Amino acid sequence: MDLRVRALETVLTEKGYIDPAALDVLIDTYQTKIGPRNGARVVAKAWADPTFHDWLLKDATAAIASLGYTGRQGEHMVAVANTDDEHHMVVCTLCSCYPWPVLGLPPTWYKSAPYRSRAVKEPRGVLAEFGVELPASTRIRVWDSTAEVRYLVIPQRPDGTDGLSEEQLADLVTRDSMIGTGLARKPGAAP
Ligand code: FE
Repeated sequence: MDLRVRALETVLTEKGYIDPAALDVLIDTYQTKIGPRNGARVVAKAWADPTFHDWLLKDATAAIASLGYTGRQGEHMVAVANTDDEHHMVVCTLCSCYPWPVLGLPPTWYKSAPYRSRAVKEPRGVLAEFGVELPASTRIRVWDSTAEVRYLVIPQRPDGTDGLSEEQLADLVTRDSMIGTGLARKPGAAP
């Protein structure tokens, strides 16, 4: 794969279709600037600020953009909030659609055929494999991402976090908790 990518890059550069410096900027952006820390800041702000929480649920694209997180694969965002009664989980059954500006690039398992099929057929079983056991009374809703719409799960705010700053709250928000295959960490729990 490495060789194939390098060969393609060489041919495209020689033909003048791409600029290697621009490619380096793109790669650096996704390696160092864009990732789940962005989404964690969005969730922390929603936990701390009820007005922002409402805005996020009504117009996630605009609310997220107000924090500076915009760009490809994040043009049409929908945020869904977990509660005691309802747990949201995101999949792309067709391929690997994922909200890049807030979560970065998708993990390998998200792109795998077993996750994509089993998330819709037996979400509770998949969650258990991720170590998430929900009460039987909690309804699980699975959202299928598309090329148009990308989802961000707002996990439930853990107990014992009343005095924490937004920055401290963001540290509790894991990538998986924003896909719905995990929960937010409790304060003091190991990262
Ligand atoms: Fe997809």
